Amino acid sequence: MKPANKEIVLRGIPVCPGVVIGKVYLFDSKEEFIAKYKIPEEQIPGEIARFEEALIKTRHELVGIQNKIASQVGEEHAQIFNAHLLFLEDRSVIEQVIKRLEKEKINVEYIFQQVGKKYVELFSNMEDDYLRERASDIRDFTRRVLYNLMGKKKKDLSDFEEEVIIVAYDLSPSDTAMMHKELVKGFATDVGGKTSHTAIIARSLEIPAVVGLHNVTGKIKPGARIIVDGNRGLVIIHPSKRSLSKYTIEKSKFERLTEKLAELKDLPAETIDGYRVSVSANIEMPADIPSVISHGAEGVGLYRTEFFYFNRTDLPSEEEQYTAYKKVAEEIYPNPVIIRTLDIGGDKFSHQIGIQKEMNPFLGWRAIRICLEEQEVFKQQLRAILRASAVGNVKLMYPMISSVDEVLEANKIVEEVKTSLDKSRIAYDKEIEMGAMIEIPSAAITSDIIARHVDFFSIGTNDLIQYSIAVDRVNEKVAYLYEPANPAVLRLIKSIIDNGHAENIWVGMCGEMAGDLEMTLILVGMGIDELSASSIIVPEIKKVIRSSSFKSLQMLSEKVLKCSTSYEVRKLARALLKKTAPEFVMQQNYRMPYSKDDPISNAQI
Ligand code: PEP
Ligand code: MG
Repeated sequence: MKPANKEIVLRGIPVCPGVVIGKVYLFDSKEEFIAKYKIPEEQIPGEIARFEEALIKTRHELVGIQNKIASQVGEEHAQIFNAHLLFLEDRSVIEQVIKRLEKEKINVEYIFQQVGKKYVELFSNMEDDYLRERASDIRDFTRRVLYNLMGKKKKDLSDFEEEVIIVAYDLSPSDTAMMHKELVKGFATDVGGKTSHTAIIARSLEIPAVVGLHNVTGKIKPGARIIVDGNRGLVIIHPSKRSLSKYTIEKSKFERLTEKLAELKDLPAETIDGYRVSVSANIEMPADIPSVISHGAEGVGLYRTEFFYFNRTDLPSEEEQYTAYKKVAEEIYPNPVIIRTLDIGGDKFSHQIGIQKEMNPFLGWRAIRICLEEQEVFKQQLRAILRASAVGNVKLMYPMISSVDEVLEANKIVEEVKTSLDKSRIAYDKEIEMGAMIEIPSAAITSDIIARHVDFFSIGTNDLIQYSIAVDRVNEKVAYLYEPANPAVLRLIKSIIDNGHAENIWVGMCGEMAGDLEMTLILVGMGIDELSASSIIVPEIKKVIRSSSFKSLQMLSEKVLKCSTSYEVRKLARALLKKTAPEFVMQQNYRMPYSKDDPISNAQI
């Protein structure tokens, strides 16, 4: 009898929650083997012609896919292909290939593959996450040209006829454009991060996905059974009977919960004793809006506009920005949309503005610091935001404020832009609310001063935690320290809320902490007015708030502010969560994969 395959558990980066058990569709996106052979001198013009033909054919293919994506998913997604097309039209790449062909007299496929590899390597070693991920665009583009040179048909993701979990080295936009979306139930990839294309597509399809698994493709055969646990970031290959039954139960619990939560869509986030909080969603592009609406978010609490600046060589025009902001404002109306001004820098790198490599990019030239220096870029964005405010409920927010001086300077520039719009008789909301993100400890400590010059605060805990605990938010080695329940973080947050309220402004939160359900309870107890998180988490936030009494949350927040350790804080908050909304205790475990007292995350690595 053939021995049963042993269960293998791999850990990666969870990029979309949920659990799926299914059959593997192994999508081989790895490198082709290309033979190398000499060609006679007289064959060189023919090789060049073949190369040019393959480039033209690839261009047609890419433009075709780009159009398809633009019409089906949206213009912003189609722009992902700009990197492919730029590479295709890059004369220096073409000239390198032709020069080497003439000098080395080797078949063009081989030379082109070598040139492509050089660029992939160059991009793979870039420091910036986003640029590093562009290596996969170049890899995909190289493969397409090679297939056309060899007259082969590229395998695509429309080949299957049953439900599958796609396991791949990586998924490029052109791969997923052709995919049978209804039949795809999950993703697992060797490479990738939270902002990789696979992650973005998984979230828009709302299917469980784990990326960055290193070598899942090498450990699995087509058709094998796997479990993708998008909550914990685990992939289980050849699951044992025990794992299968455990996950079958978890999966149906998760699905039942999701269905039940959908019933809350139109209900407010109000405690049983009548305390109401606004729950909104974070977005990156207009294509995220349907998910905001379908999950019952009461607006957009953070529109991250830096995504405009990625994957292109020029700056986005005022008109282009206005079109996107207007679309979001109109679709969300009468609910509010908080548009955050450019937050480039740190781990969000962009060439157009000339950001240089820095020793400490998170402490460097970024966000409002760039905008106050590059005022034309800032003004162009402000004009677009103000113009969009004429058609919707738009609010404007500055990121990375470190002192009141920056607020005053930014407010002055906004006034200048308003005056110029008045002169040109261009409409905008004269009462537009302007807020500051509080995500730097100096701003938190002086929030009583800043509160006098803005209409609201939004606490950016992703950065506030990293700066107050001195723990890099993208460094996995110190991730165990990255703990929202740290008493220092909680004290800062409480003082921001109190300082805001003392000046009669509302205080929200748009960092990930808002959707960490144990923390949600504490935050509401502290008196937070608004919480903004990923759309998918909105129903969970509503549910825990609706299951609690404000009185019990206030008591919890008072108690946790007296705790000495984050462990004590978590223990108290978890006990209350268990009492009020026990169905979420399981999910909560998932969200703390680095917690030392979490037996699930430690057991299976
Ligand atoms: C934050 O810092 O909490 C935040 C919401 O902004 P970002 O994650 O875009 O830095
Ligand atoms: Mg931030």
